[in-house]
Formats: sequence, C-alpha cells, structure tokens
Amino acid sequence: MPSLGIDIGGTKIASGLVHSDGTVHEVRSRPVTGMGETALQQVLDVARSYLAVHPVAHVGVALPGGVDPKTRVVTTAPNLGWTDMSLAQRLSAALDRQVHVENDANCAAWAEHRFGAGRGRTNTVLITIGTGIGGGLVVSNRLLVGHHGLGAELGHIPLVIGGHPCKCGASGCWEQYASGSALRAEARRRNWRPGPVTGEEVLRAAADGDPAAVHIVEWVSGHLAHGLTTMAAFLDPGEVVLGGGLGSDKRFVEYVDTALAAFHPSSSRGHVTVRPAELGIHSGVIGAADLAATIHGSAHC
Ligand SMILES: [Zn+2]
Repeated sequence: MPSLGIDIGGTKIASGLVHSDGTVHEVRSRPVTGMGETALQQVLDVARSYLAVHPVAHVGVALPGGVDPKTRVVTTAPNLGWTDMSLAQRLSAALDRQVHVENDANCAAWAEHRFGAGRGRTNTVLITIGTGIGGGLVVSNRLLVGHHGLGAELGHIPLVIGGHPCKCGASGCWEQYASGSALRAEARRRNWRPGPVTGEEVLRAAADGDPAAVHIVEWVSGHLAHGLTTMAAFLDPGEVVLGGGLGSDKRFVEYVDTALAAFHPSSSRGHVTVRPAELGIHSGVIGAADLAATIHGSAHC
C-alpha cells in the first residue's frame, strides 16, 4: 500500500502517492492561500482527497520549518504562521492515519538518500542552492535532525567573521556568500551593471566571456567550495549532492568543480566531489511519504 506525501511550500502544496521503490503517482499541486488554521484546513483537504479514493498506509508531511525531535510538534513555520503547532497529532486524529511531519529539506535529503543520487550509500549530504542554501544530512542511514530539530541548517554555517548580515540574525552565514542571492548581491556591490540584475544574467554574461561576470561567479563558487571543503573536513562524505535552481545549473557547477580542485592541493585530506540531485521537485513528497512509512514501520508496497 502506498503512503501519501504532502510537501507544503511557500506558495503551494504538492502531493502524491509514493510506493516502497520511491515511485510517485497521482501527483497534484494546489496553491496555499492562507496561514494558520486556514493553511491547516487546506492540508487536510488535500489529504482527504486522496484518502477518499485510494488506499493509503501512512501520511508524511514536509514543511518549511522546524520540528521538535522528541514531541514532533512544529516549533516554527513562519511562512505558514505556525508556532508550536501539534500538526502530526491533529492530522492523525482527523485522518485516522499515522502522520509523520518533517522539515522539507530533511525530506529531500532522505529521498535522495533512498532513491536518488545517494542510493546505495551509507551517508548522504544534500545541499540545495537557490535563493539561499538549504540541505539535509543522512548519516549511517539515519536522518540527522539535531538536538532542536534544526540540524543541517547548512546555509547558516558561519563562514566569515564580521561578514554580511543574514536574515537569521547572525552575520557571515554561508548563504550570504554562495547562493543565488549572493550572485545578485555581489554584482550589485561591484556595480557590475546599473539597476537590478538576476543571477541568471550574471551566469549568462560569464558564459559569454564578460570578465567582471566571470569574477563574480568565481567569487560565489569559491565560497561554495570553501563551505563544502569545511564540511568535508568533519564529515568526509566523499561526494555531496547538489540541488536547487543554482545547484542544478551546469554552468555554475563547472565553476564549483574548479574551485573544489583548488582547495585540494594534496591528497592527504578527504576529497569531496559534487553530483546533481536526481529527484527534482518531487523530492519533498517522496521523502515525506517514505519517512512516514519507514518510521511507522509498515512495509508499503
Ligand atoms: Zn544566517
């Protein structure tokens, strides 16, 4: 019996039925049009639309927020207006199914570990690079969630003392130097072009040979490689899976490869290489459903 995965994003709720081999079907998407109780009701509507017509073993929910590792209460999901929300408990009572709730980046890492670029390995590091940096860690085939349920907040690894301020309240965080936002911000700092620019414009200009754009992309990819090398020093993952809009951009990844090679002048330390994520936009749905099935112990098929 498949499990239902629901991935609540900033603007939409994606969902699908997931089998034990990671295949997904009945994929749907609908906008999130409210916060608080309204958003909860929309999640319930999505779940009920499946349960009414399909056999479903368990329900897994991925969401952009933190989940207490012991109580499974959603500690905070600012985009949804949820604080200390007993989401799993409330959904479980309403749906008469066991429900597992997990941070969306952790779900994506779990999905890549089980069925994507990390399958067959013991450890998987997923770094998603879009506007910011997200990610998840699977260590010894277990999702690393941390003491506060905030493990693998990789974008907020402090990289630069006294560096650029970050929306998390700290400064010098990795994502301020190695993300789509960093590409735009660095172009602005260097007065690359008048007016607002996009990361895509910088990448395209670099590909066309604009020397200033090349320097900006080298600067950002160099900071990404710096953070990856830092992680390699304590995890030695061998390879890191890159996802997200910028992390999936072949032009950018070539720069990252070059920068990583420069960080490894000798073979005395663990070398890290990057490979692309494989599951794309369905990774949250697949990971949430499979975590629910794995944790609640039923063999879905
Ligand atoms: Zn930060």
